[in-house]
Amino acid sequence: MSPFVGGTRTDVGGVSVSTDHYIGGQRVGSPHTFENRSPLDWSVKLADVARGDADTARLAIDAAVAAFPEWSAMGVKGRGDVMRRVADLIDAHVPELAAVECRDMAMLEESLRLRVLSRGARNFRAYADLAEQYEERVWASNGTANRVMRMPAGPTVVITPWNAPFMLSTWKCAPALAAGNTVVLKPAEWSPLSCSLLADLCHEAGMPAGVFNVVQGIGEEVGAALVSDPRLKRISFTGSPDTAKHIGRAAASNIVPFTAELGGKGPFIVFADSDLEAAAKKAAGQFDDSGQVCLAGTRIMVEASARDEFLALFHRFADAHVLGDSMDPATTISPMIHPEHFARVAGFVERARAAGDTILRGGQRSSLGGDDGLWYEPTLIEPRSNDSEVVQHEVFGPVLTFQTFTDEDDAVRLANSTAYGLSAIVYTGSQERAERMGRAVRAGTVWTNCFLVRDLTAPFGGCGISGIGREGGDYALDFYSDLKMFQVLENTTH
Ligand code: NAD
Repeated sequence: MSPFVGGTRTDVGGVSVSTDHYIGGQRVGSPHTFENRSPLDWSVKLADVARGDADTARLAIDAAVAAFPEWSAMGVKGRGDVMRRVADLIDAHVPELAAVECRDMAMLEESLRLRVLSRGARNFRAYADLAEQYEERVWASNGTANRVMRMPAGPTVVITPWNAPFMLSTWKCAPALAAGNTVVLKPAEWSPLSCSLLADLCHEAGMPAGVFNVVQGIGEEVGAALVSDPRLKRISFTGSPDTAKHIGRAAASNIVPFTAELGGKGPFIVFADSDLEAAAKKAAGQFDDSGQVCLAGTRIMVEASARDEFLALFHRFADAHVLGDSMDPATTISPMIHPEHFARVAGFVERARAAGDTILRGGQRSSLGGDDGLWYEPTLIEPRSNDSEVVQHEVFGPVLTFQTFTDEDDAVRLANSTAYGLSAIVYTGSQERAERMGRAVRAGTVWTNCFLVRDLTAPFGGCGISGIGREGGDYALDFYSDLKMFQVLENTTH
């Protein structure tokens, strides 16, 4: 990577990473910092990162406001050219990005390198293309020629969570930039480093100063200051439902549209007529990334007649998981992000045990890494009731629940019985049943006999407390735009 000169930088896995903010095309420090440690080995401090405050937030929004007229006036073609250069640079620097994000967040290095990070480049390219392909709706009525136009909305704040920080940030920033908005991104304080590299790449691609800004810091501090700024025109948030309530209050006080991509508690429904081996393999795959995946199907539900056969297969695939160093290609389960999060996940299991739920496997800290290691054994819990806390609340760790159902109606009842509605997975050998389940299950995405197959033009989002609004394709571009109805009286020229 050939980063531009400036700012405080630190070496992470052989890659030079700035620990400063990136505001108005420059690196800017803060009087205070926060400590960033590696989940791979908590004794390793990766960096002291600039800890933004209200002044930093004001400075970043100043920059986004100042850059908006030029960027919005560049049009979809001019913006697309810059965005495609960013995409090419992401592709060219995948190994460095993977080296940093793996140490910072502990996602498997191989998976980052082969799959996750190139999605960042695809996000930039896909939205550059889609914005150019937009066709205004044009029609005549009541003696007027009518057109629907997109107007860039304005300065936009994007707030992202700690899991898959680079990919998720590009998923939100790319459509905002393609729509003509300027962006202030605040990555999560537990994995802030790969987004700092995104600023380097945008700079190198020639993105005009102030169009894309990165502010580092704590959510309740600089995050809260950013979303409260009355000059904002959009807020885009991915994270937990609790934080979304704070952000929603700030957005409401300034009447700013916001989208929220929140937690999930997806059902993984297996009918006896399905390919049970394929279903069990995919179900055991829900432990990937230590279960720190919002879309994961964490409530395994199996038709009662297939219970024993499914469980035997599931245990076989779960036994094949390898807990280990995320840099090692043989590893399939990485450590969790942070000791606080580890304690939260372990707390769910302890309360489930104490309440009388049955631990079918796992249920304890792995011996890997000793007392400070952040690996938790892949855990399957059979709850005593559907009301159990571990069934009704997102754990966001390697903890799945196991339930059985009697028939299709019972499966739908269980699937729709939480406050969440982000994703669902159904395994069945019947096309008719797949159709019925696809309609009956309440979720933003329902996958049948597959998981995580994504089309970037498809709507993405959640029902209930899993979110507000939809990202993806034109849904995102419409959100980041103000739609204008333009009418001209026919025969206006005299
Ligand atoms: P979080 O809500 O704790 O934090 C998310 C971001 O919000 C962070 O950058 C944080 O600094 C910031 N923040 C916190 N308080 C704030 C405030 N008062 N004002 C402004 N910003 C604030 O979430 P997390 O623990 O980082 O992420 C895990 C959650 O994210 C899980 O619930 C997971 O399911 C969800 N998630 C959802 C999706 C999706 O697409 N639906 C994707 C990934 C993660």
